[in-house]
Amino acid sequence: MTASGIRPSAVEAFAQREREHFIARNPKSVALAERARNSLYGGVPMHWMADWSTPVPLFVERAKGARFYDVDGHEYIDFCLGDTGTMFGHSPDPIAKAIAEQGNNGLTTMLPGEDAVVCGELLAARFGLPFWQVTATATDSNRYVLRWARAITQRKTLLVFDGCYHGTVDDVMVRCIDGETVPRSGLVGQAYDLTQYSRSVPFNDVAALEAALAKGDVCALLCEPAMTNIGMVLPEPGFMQKCRELTRKYGALLIIDETHTISTDMGGCTKLWDLEPDFFVVGKPIAGGVPCGIFGCSAAMAEAMTAARKRASEGSHGHGHSGMGTTLSANALAMHCMRANLEQVMTQAAYDHMLPLAKRLADGFRSLIGKHDLKWSVTELGARSEFQFCPVSPKTGAEAEAAFHDELQMALHLYLINRGILITPFHNMTLCCPSTTANDVDKLISMLDQALTELLAIPG
Ligand code: PMP
Repeated sequence: MTASGIRPSAVEAFAQREREHFIARNPKSVALAERARNSLYGGVPMHWMADWSTPVPLFVERAKGARFYDVDGHEYIDFCLGDTGTMFGHSPDPIAKAIAEQGNNGLTTMLPGEDAVVCGELLAARFGLPFWQVTATATDSNRYVLRWARAITQRKTLLVFDGCYHGTVDDVMVRCIDGETVPRSGLVGQAYDLTQYSRSVPFNDVAALEAALAKGDVCALLCEPAMTNIGMVLPEPGFMQKCRELTRKYGALLIIDETHTISTDMGGCTKLWDLEPDFFVVGKPIAGGVPCGIFGCSAAMAEAMTAARKRASEGSHGHGHSGMGTTLSANALAMHCMRANLEQVMTQAAYDHMLPLAKRLADGFRSLIGKHDLKWSVTELGARSEFQFCPVSPKTGAEAEAAFHDELQMALHLYLINRGILITPFHNMTLCCPSTTANDVDKLISMLDQALTELLAIPG
């Protein structure tokens, strides 16, 4: 038996039927997949796009609001929403308009415009940190903030929580196994030992956190206020406050990455829980789905950054480089879209719509778990919720991972895809957007109910 309580043989029979169903239902996706194998490595433009539950990639034709349409003409209700990239719906009208406006006015010049100033003002007002920088992705934001943290504190070790994900930042690719920091498995082409300057401790473990900080070499704790990348793991009451208190006590900075948890509130968990970070990161939805990341910092950090830059250029020869940049960062298109997003899309009205729907969804998951007598749990935070194959919501990344049953997760996702519903791959997270309706939520619950009924009826 597996962590989920479902027999592997039943899952395999169920999955096989759904794979056949997918192939029969999607001849155009199947044909495109075949053609793609001749020009795209692995048949996809980015290799992980082949890792979904479908036997060949599902090719999308277009998307709008909470819906997308595949090349075979099927309509889908999207609870994945580009894994948050399009948390406010696909192509919101103000973003489509902003793209059209900027489209003929220059896309990138390496120079700022008035949009940049307006965005800075809007970000400061919304998130409460005075100074901002704009990057191309959340990964970039985290990489640059880490550089600043090391430069400011003149310490090298980064502290993260076990099971975290903050983008493809080398330094975060570590796990904590039996109390030891080890490299994350699966890394390709890793040249140097990541455990030299990175340390990983379990989430919600105050003693381990304090012990890791007490070594006195930690430049920063980089964390999400609730883990969202190994299944969802919520902080226990007071844990995030402890993160703030202990980082201050031991001279480390606190970096809060709200790239996913921005779904909780207009100001993220940071504003809601008064977390007072030194640096604050968001990416993905900040420009309405157009590539863009941001980071903000306190006035004290801004001053320390200036001093660190001065130190770095002392005695240097020729043209220096801060190690931060990328030419397309803060390009005109992204800035124009971020402005439209902050002013017209990422509004309180949007959150007021999304939050009750996510609650309705979480309640629906709970009722299904009860109805089918499963030892599963539901974790919810703001506009996202997740069902997990364990009896109580996990407290650490390791607990969340122990509840994984990948074959079951993929079989259920595939069943839903075959019936016009998409949820976030690799775990069971769902997100509601301003165009999601109560009917959409109820459809997901009734389809999942049907899936579980059919799966549990498979004779052993
Ligand atoms: N931070 C968090 C919390 C994330 O979940 C992710 C991506 N899933 C990132 C950063 C990186 O975002 P991107 O891939 O857009 O750079």
